[in-house]
Amino acid sequence: MKIFLAGEWVEKSKKIEVRNPYDNSVIDTVPKAEAADVERALAFAERGAKVMAKLSGYERWRILRKAADLMAARNEELGRLISTEEGKIIAEGRGEANRAVETMMGSAEEAKRLHGETVPLDGDPTGARKLGFTLRVPCGVVAAISPFNFPLNLVCHKVGPALAAGNSVIIKPATDTPLSALRLTEILLEAGLPPQGIQCLTGSGADIGDVLVSDRRVRKITFTGSREIGERICRMAGLKKVTMELGSNSPLIIMPDADLDRVATAVVATGYGNAGQTCISTQRVLTASKVYSDFLSALGPKVQALTTGNQLDEQTNVGPMIREGDAIRVEEWVREAVGGGARVVAGGMRRGAIYHPTVVADVKPEMRISCDELFGPAVAVTPFNSIDEAIALANDTVYGLSAGIFTENLEWAMRFAREVESGNLHINWGPQWRADLMPYGGLKESGFGKEGPGYAVEEMTELKMVVFHLST
Ligand code: NAP
Repeated sequence: MKIFLAGEWVEKSKKIEVRNPYDNSVIDTVPKAEAADVERALAFAERGAKVMAKLSGYERWRILRKAADLMAARNEELGRLISTEEGKIIAEGRGEANRAVETMMGSAEEAKRLHGETVPLDGDPTGARKLGFTLRVPCGVVAAISPFNFPLNLVCHKVGPALAAGNSVIIKPATDTPLSALRLTEILLEAGLPPQGIQCLTGSGADIGDVLVSDRRVRKITFTGSREIGERICRMAGLKKVTMELGSNSPLIIMPDADLDRVATAVVATGYGNAGQTCISTQRVLTASKVYSDFLSALGPKVQALTTGNQLDEQTNVGPMIREGDAIRVEEWVREAVGGGARVVAGGMRRGAIYHPTVVADVKPEMRISCDELFGPAVAVTPFNSIDEAIALANDTVYGLSAGIFTENLEWAMRFAREVESGNLHINWGPQWRADLMPYGGLKESGFGKEGPGYAVEEMTELKMVVFHLST
């Protein structure tokens, strides 16, 4: 595919090969953008922001709504594209394509809802005969940098609200999975988006990231990706608005009163989806000592039964990881844990980029498989003796994106909700659950700012305060 730069589809001599993670075959190539391309994109986007700001809410709604309709009509094509470039199983590819439609529809609705409010200035001692209200205006140029693991929906979570708010956007998709973002760009143009409103640059973040995020013409950066890159972007960004959606090592607490079969089902559903490469994947399973061995007996066979293989085969439960190197890293972390006294209850094998879904028991909190973000198809099980200890273990991390608890006890559930330091909290489900309309984002080093169209449009706009100084 080509990149969409300065209003045209552009080819370049330097190319990046996009590969199917399952068999490493080349599925397409994309241009390798360089710093000069970013410079051109920024100049164009600055002019584009003025074009976008002139569109009415109704026009922005119409474009986004049409884009959502086009995406819905192409669900199968988009699902296969996601699955092929990313490695998630085809059912998950279709699911992501469906979610992306919802995200764009939600964004379309927000285009009609942007509003300010009147401010009761006469409540101030100096406020008599003043009339005040706020105006919500677009930021201008938005840089949208996205990760590999949800190559369509997470791009929509940035582009949809940014366009709904009347900005122009430069997308920088992950180098491993750029095709879905380029297809989305095509769809938006087909839906009637002015070409000045969007650009999509493929190229290595290490090469073009700094130029993009440090430029003063960018007024808003919306980033989803790793903590390390997020921290670097924050350092480079300077004085501009930034949203950071970063990683996690999400905990799930199993209290002694939990229905263990239900918990095991939830761990399978929330720990191994997308081969564990989901920012809110269940990673640390903190289990009450009283039910520890019963829980492992319930979980082990369910995980062992998961099938691995070609992600496009309808029978496969878990596909490859994005790169073989990542599967090797997961293998090493599991081996390291076992060397420190942990034990493998299910899985533990690797075949190329496929790492078989794995359960590791007797994990100590200081082991890498527990304290770092694993981002792979394994869960680490650790025992605890009291709710106090469970909450302390859940909070013993720099991350705070999502957490879960299984219990029938309201007091425990409320303590969990109040005391666990996490942006998302699930009672009687695992950490991996998201409705695209809800406010979604992390605490601590999992980031700041919220996504979900209704919340993201606030991040994509500035608030102006207008005061009329009246004489009567
Ligand atoms: P990543 O390595 O941090 O890359 C994310 C994006 O940043 C890619 O587009 C990457 O481009 C770009 N990038 C790299 N270096 C850059 C730089 N110096 N300046 C600007 N951009 C740069 O993350 P990933 O491996 O794709 O995704 C996995 C991570 O994302 C995990 O940590 C996961 O938890 C997190 N994540 C978080 C959420 C959330 O909502 N909180 C959701 C999904 C994923 P290249 O691909 O060219 O390197």
